Amino acid sequence: MTLTHKMMVTALLVTTTGVVVWPAGQVADPVRERARQLHREALVMDVHADMAPFLEKDTQPARITDPGMSGPGYDAAADPAQQPVVDAWTKTFPPGPWSFAERHPDSYMDLPKLREGSVDGVFVAIYMDREPRPGMAVKRALGQIDAIRAATDKYPRDIALATTADEVRRIVASGRIALLMGLEGGYMIEDNIRVLRMFHALGVRYMTLTHCFNTHWADSSGCGDPVQPEHGGLSPFGREVVKEMNRLGMMVDLTHVADQTFYDALAVTKAPVILSHSAVDAVKEHARNVSDDMLRALAKNGGVIHIDAVIKYIDPIERPATPLSVFIDHVVHAIEVAGPDHVGIGLDYGYDAPKPVDLEDCSKYENITYELLKRGVPESTIKKIWGENTLRVMKEVERVSSSLNQH
Ligand SMILES: [Zn+2]
Repeated sequence: MTLTHKMMVTALLVTTTGVVVWPAGQVADPVRERARQLHREALVMDVHADMAPFLEKDTQPARITDPGMSGPGYDAAADPAQQPVVDAWTKTFPPGPWSFAERHPDSYMDLPKLREGSVDGVFVAIYMDREPRPGMAVKRALGQIDAIRAATDKYPRDIALATTADEVRRIVASGRIALLMGLEGGYMIEDNIRVLRMFHALGVRYMTLTHCFNTHWADSSGCGDPVQPEHGGLSPFGREVVKEMNRLGMMVDLTHVADQTFYDALAVTKAPVILSHSAVDAVKEHARNVSDDMLRALAKNGGVIHIDAVIKYIDPIERPATPLSVFIDHVVHAIEVAGPDHVGIGLDYGYDAPKPVDLEDCSKYENITYELLKRGVPESTIKKIWGENTLRVMKEVERVSSSLNQH
């Protein structure tokens, strides 16, 4: 059979049955074919990935063990950022060396998997468990920022740091992956607006106001265990933080915050906000998920909720293997209530977070496109969800910032 003949047979079978039958008897799925193409065309972003500890490992030898990097009073053994295990969360990362350029069976995100999943942009989360020692949260956050920046120096042909929506597009157009930085937890500014400004100067483009506990200026929703509100939402200083983020051009991230903090931030902000990795109460009720009311308020603000894929936040029932359809239920509900312009993807994978079937790592992201197509979500909406909505918010945040800085 000639190629032309085969194409004619294929076309005939597609129009009559909707299923492509190849001569060898294999059945090809036309939706799968379309998903593959659409996924490659789309600008694909994951707005929340816990990759910084991996990049710290990859960039550590050149950056930190070089004796020229540290002064005489520097004690590597006393610096927690030097220790392989510093807290419960970091313990979940594998010991030993790690290279971004290599494929790792046990990591959710590395360069070969990002390429396989046609991923164009990733917000890397800067994160650590609660750090009670004064000064250490800033120091450790700076270490992660250095690791992310050092990784872009180390792999210049594959990744580059992006700080604006236009930079993301330029980097993607050059065939590289854009890395962006998000600070997951307002405690890392250690109650100091100047520290916030310096994080922005280093390239951080969103800050999650709280993690699983209250800061001195914002109430958290907790991560399962109830948290007592201390500020009734945002304190007066918390409002100043939001205003300064607007002025700087840093996205306000309301994942993890208490409902009242969410509404207080919406009342103060002059720019659209994001939720970088959240899910919806309508599918799984959880303190850190959002109600329909919050989805509608978010849409009114012009913001975007990026849907989280961590099983304990998304699956209403406990089971050995959560199907991908549960994650899709959250996405589809958010589209129905907030609208197609207000939903994105922020999968929230760390080393050890259990994942739905067919979404085990970032090489599988095309399966999301496929499932959304099967649910009848329009192709234009799928493209918005994968990156266009996020870039629209970034651009708007940049616009608000420059208008606030005009004297
Ligand atoms: Zn989180």
